[in-house]
Amino acid sequence: MNSPKVPGLNPQKDGSVAMTIEAPNGNLKPEILEAMGKVSRMPGITVHITTAQKIMFLGLDDESGQRVMEIMESAGASVRKGRTLSHARTCVGQPWCKFAWQDTFAFGEYLYEKAGAEITAPKMKLGIAGCPACCSWANMVDLGFVGVKSGWKVFAAGHGGARPKTGIEIAKVTNVEDAAELTLKVAHFFTANVKKKSRLDRVIDKIGGIEAFKREIGIE
Ligand code: SF4
Repeated sequence: MNSPKVPGLNPQKDGSVAMTIEAPNGNLKPEILEAMGKVSRMPGITVHITTAQKIMFLGLDDESGQRVMEIMESAGASVRKGRTLSHARTCVGQPWCKFAWQDTFAFGEYLYEKAGAEITAPKMKLGIAGCPACCSWANMVDLGFVGVKSGWKVFAAGHGGARPKTGIEIAKVTNVEDAAELTLKVAHFFTANVKKKSRLDRVIDKIGGIEAFKREIGIE
């Protein structure tokens, strides 16, 4: 795929460009929803919720794309322009879900604030679930946090795709500060060791397996 001429406007197969905004925790503020309403009425534009809980505008060209970017950024939206870690796919958690052990939104907001802007090699996906049911597939991403009674189990090296793989439990954290620190360590490890677009499980295999990985990121 060609590099975007304008950062944030990504060429598509049909010659159009697409733009994606972040929606931390899968939540949208009223100002952003109002701006989306305006954009969605522009001719030829499709507004799509991605599987990663982001909002994608399809069917743009360079001119309409820049206009949409201006509208969305004025409303406070964060347009994806680089290889940042971004936000975790997150379930609703406490206090809404009757099965939840943990408050996923507070956790997700802090993680996004501390690690979301980190420049990270593609692809490293994050997930947060309020309980082991993992509705957000937090056990099937590169790094996932799964709420349990006493904190969060940490799963690494999972992914979807043609050959999906369940993450491996590597640690437990009891607070979001430790979770953010661990996330940054894993992002740095991945970015330093990946040679081309790949996933964490393949990088871990190359360095000798999960125990070697745990040592690399300081987990005993
Ligand atoms: S993962 Fe658990 S807490 Fe989250 S929505 Fe599903 S059942 Fe509820």
